[in-house]
Amino acid sequence: MDLVAYVPTAPRRGETVMGREFHTVPGGKGANQAIAAAKAGAYTSMIGAVGTDEFAAQIRKVLTASGVDVAGLRAIPGRSGTAHIVVDDEGGNSIVVVPAANNAMETFNDSDEELVADCGSLLLQLETPLPGVAAAAAAGRRNGVKVVLTPAPAAPLPADLLANVDLLVPNEHEAAVLTGNADPDQALEELLRKVPEVVITLGARGCLYGNRDGAQVRVPSHRVDAVDSTAAGDTFVGVLSAVLGEGASMPDAMRLASAGAALSVQRPGASSSMPTRAEIVRFVD
Ligand code: ADP
Repeated sequence: MDLVAYVPTAPRRGETVMGREFHTVPGGKGANQAIAAAKAGAYTSMIGAVGTDEFAAQIRKVLTASGVDVAGLRAIPGRSGTAHIVVDDEGGNSIVVVPAANNAMETFNDSDEELVADCGSLLLQLETPLPGVAAAAAAGRRNGVKVVLTPAPAAPLPADLLANVDLLVPNEHEAAVLTGNADPDQALEELLRKVPEVVITLGARGCLYGNRDGAQVRVPSHRVDAVDSTAAGDTFVGVLSAVLGEGASMPDAMRLASAGAALSVQRPGASSSMPTRAEIVRFVD
């Protein structure tokens, strides 16, 4: 759950400031990506954890209303994961994340694997503990499912995880952290030594794909009036995985993902700004 306070200036240590507004918004990369995939038309199951607090019911409700199957969502006694976000008048923010129930995602059980076995693609991110993410990727590989990883928040990736990733989708910043190389083309080359396929998202400059056979695809972003780029990357990768899971080609999937992300940045909010498949198709035509 994102707990968002809007303030003129963020408080310094020891300081109390008065905020203008406060919102609670279900969020987190996993939930946002699942909602983007479901709205893009994929049958989507979310494997994750909520607590048993007042936020848990709201989170389940938003996921279900967006068409996400929550059979794989555990209820862990105690708090749901929260992000405490302070947004200032210049649009800058500072964030404290308390993982709480998400810490339970260290393990991956047999019923999780049954959900994975049924999928066209398995989309992973790093806001839950690495051992669980690595176990999920291994389950994806065992079941012949395309394993897509967004390496966010950016962190060094262990070899046992990378060995089971088919497609890595970092943004420019994450690609630079993973490779130590700020040039996206060079970072792409380096990442292809670790995984077979890579898409680097470049914000308003679009996205770049490469694979180990030397194929490259660049898709420019749509020129739109961006009002809120929160979750642009989550929308992009949710739509991309949804469409790849249907068996679409990479260039087609990138075009639809770019369109989906372009629609989302024109609206405020995270999951509430994500487009449906019909909206994406209309926008592309
Ligand atoms: P993240 O949200 O993870 O930082 P990016 O900023 O790279 O990811 O954005 C992901 C994708 O969203 C981009 O590849 C692009 O397709 C789309 N996008 C992001 N910002 C804009 C923008 N200002 N205008 C149009 N499309 C955008």
